[in-house]
Amino acid sequence: MSFAAISDAVHVRAPGKINVFLGVGARHDDGYHALATVFQAVSLYEDVIAHHADDFSLTVSGVDDPDSVPLDDRNLAMRAAKLLASATDYAGGVALRIRKSVPVAGGMGGGSADAAAALVACDALWGTGLSPARLHELAARLGADVPFALHGGTAVGTGRGDQLNPALARGRFDWVLVTSDAGLSTPVVYQRLDALRAEEGALADDPPVSLDVPIPVLQALRSGDPALLAESLHNDLQAAAVHEQPDLAQTIRDGIDAGALAGIVSGSGPTVALLCDGPESAQDVQSALRLAGRDPLHVHGAVAGARIMS
Ligand code: ATP
Repeated sequence: MSFAAISDAVHVRAPGKINVFLGVGARHDDGYHALATVFQAVSLYEDVIAHHADDFSLTVSGVDDPDSVPLDDRNLAMRAAKLLASATDYAGGVALRIRKSVPVAGGMGGGSADAAAALVACDALWGTGLSPARLHELAARLGADVPFALHGGTAVGTGRGDQLNPALARGRFDWVLVTSDAGLSTPVVYQRLDALRAEEGALADDPPVSLDVPIPVLQALRSGDPALLAESLHNDLQAAAVHEQPDLAQTIRDGIDAGALAGIVSGSGPTVALLCDGPESAQDVQSALRLAGRDPLHVHGAVAGARIMS
């Protein structure tokens, strides 16, 4: 039976993301860094199914290591459901089933997608009927990437990454993703960036406290030309991620040798996103990397944010 056929339950699908551009500024007193980023939602989805229940419970499938995803209040989807219940004085609970496709701790915002999907699913299941603005507000309280998973598409994120403005992106962009067996902890990668900057002699105040996305990135997205976008891909966290997993640099080189236009570490990594010239080129890159013993995924963007499927 498909999820969509289950009655008395709500099935929501939310996408993972790639950071096409990620600029990291100074670390604020609250521990967050100033960011200027461009997110693109891609066709790799998390499925969350919410059933009526008296209490709160959660199951997760689709992961190789069941211990990699917490099933208690540390899980972002669980926190999302409880936050919505408390914000709306809903007295019941929910049984959440998460089917994961986005790699865990992969720099693609899988947990954030689960949280966005859980918010939308519980809002529909419980009939709490929050406005999009109120859902966005709750999403931002759960994590900096959660509002984007609600909205999807292509968007500029500033502040902690949670202040979103849609970016015009024409056409479709084809990406080949190369995932890693071992995840990378986002806080560890940011700490490594701070340490590398300190080693380079950058004073604490040197990185800007607020920053913007460079115009050429936005122009490339608007043009719909992958070759132009390839020239603009940038991630300030990449050196730190490569420091933690040195083989990522080779993965990017292998992708380019296989025919990709450019490659980048997505977010805090370790997923590598290879931008290709179109669907056929992406299939060629995927085949070549597969022959080389890797397990690449062909996805495209931009796709919609969290959507009710049933
Ligand atoms: P970030 O959003 O911090 O960049 P990420 O995209 O690299 O994270 P996620 O898969 O979202 O990685 O999860 C990071 C960590 O958060 C995991 O290692 C796990 O311990 C915890 N976590 C909490 N909720 C979830 C969830 N629903 N799915 C996966 N991991 C979760």
